[in-house]
Amino acid sequence: MLSYRHAFHAGNFADLLKHTTLLAILKHLCEKPGAVHYIETHAGAGKYRLDSQMALKTGEFSQGIGKLWHTPQLPALLAEYLNTVQAVNHGELLFYPGSPLFAALTLRQQDRLHLCELHNTDFPLLQQSVQNDRRASCYHEDGYKKSLALVPPVSKRGLVMIDPSYEVKTEYQQVVTQLKLLHKRFATGVYALWYPVIDAAKVKELVRALKNTGIKRIQRFEFGLNQNHDAAGMNASGMIVINSPWRLKQELEDNFTWLLNSVYSDTEAYWLAEELVGE
Ligand code: SAM
Repeated sequence: MLSYRHAFHAGNFADLLKHTTLLAILKHLCEKPGAVHYIETHAGAGKYRLDSQMALKTGEFSQGIGKLWHTPQLPALLAEYLNTVQAVNHGELLFYPGSPLFAALTLRQQDRLHLCELHNTDFPLLQQSVQNDRRASCYHEDGYKKSLALVPPVSKRGLVMIDPSYEVKTEYQQVVTQLKLLHKRFATGVYALWYPVIDAAKVKELVRALKNTGIKRIQRFEFGLNQNHDAAGMNASGMIVINSPWRLKQELEDNFTWLLNSVYSDTEAYWLAEELVGE
């Protein structure tokens, strides 16, 4: 029984890091002509209303997209992130695009989207969000199993995005096993894994397990509203990227350092970028 609904969290500070990273990776993959396959294990509903009861109940988007919406002269990557959110709105911030729409709005005609979502309510919403997009296939299936059947893609070029809700604590181990299985089948693929920082010990264990997989070229990016990981709730979240495009780390560093020094300068927000495993 799945209880997590991304509608409560859409557009929050965690989505800001996740979707900026996603956008940057896809943009780099699209620099070469070969078809890019975007495979998402946990796609969510695709598009969210920020005036819904769920979004207003937490108001989380005010600490993410809400902070950027009226900010002029953003650096390039953040400006593209904002442009993508603007593309699903008409002047006023009312909708927030989930990762499937960020991908759909960044990818080209020759590319493909493979979107898995298990939730019975969110799956039809996902289908609706990409209904006129012939590049997209939606699967009402377990994303862990389905993604294994989708790699390697025919073009041998692609990004697998793993964005679970970590409702089940064993998911911290499951994502590492999943990355090992996927990487064995498709070693040249790009992989992005999102993680929440709720329990610092769990993140430490996740990082240790990733370093022990034998997989090379692993980077970690983390953005948080404060470094007090003992405070209740989620104060930070991160992205693990495997086979990262070569400019990604610098690009994220530039944009998130700028964010900390401007938009979040009156907060205790922090940013971290590190290489976990090299070449
Ligand atoms: N990636 C989305 C975005 O950024 O817009 C948000 C996804 S949300 C964090 C996680 C989603 O995974 C939920 O909608 C949940 O219903 C779904 N889910 C949970 N377990 C799943 C599984 N095994 N396979 C596919 N979807 C799953």
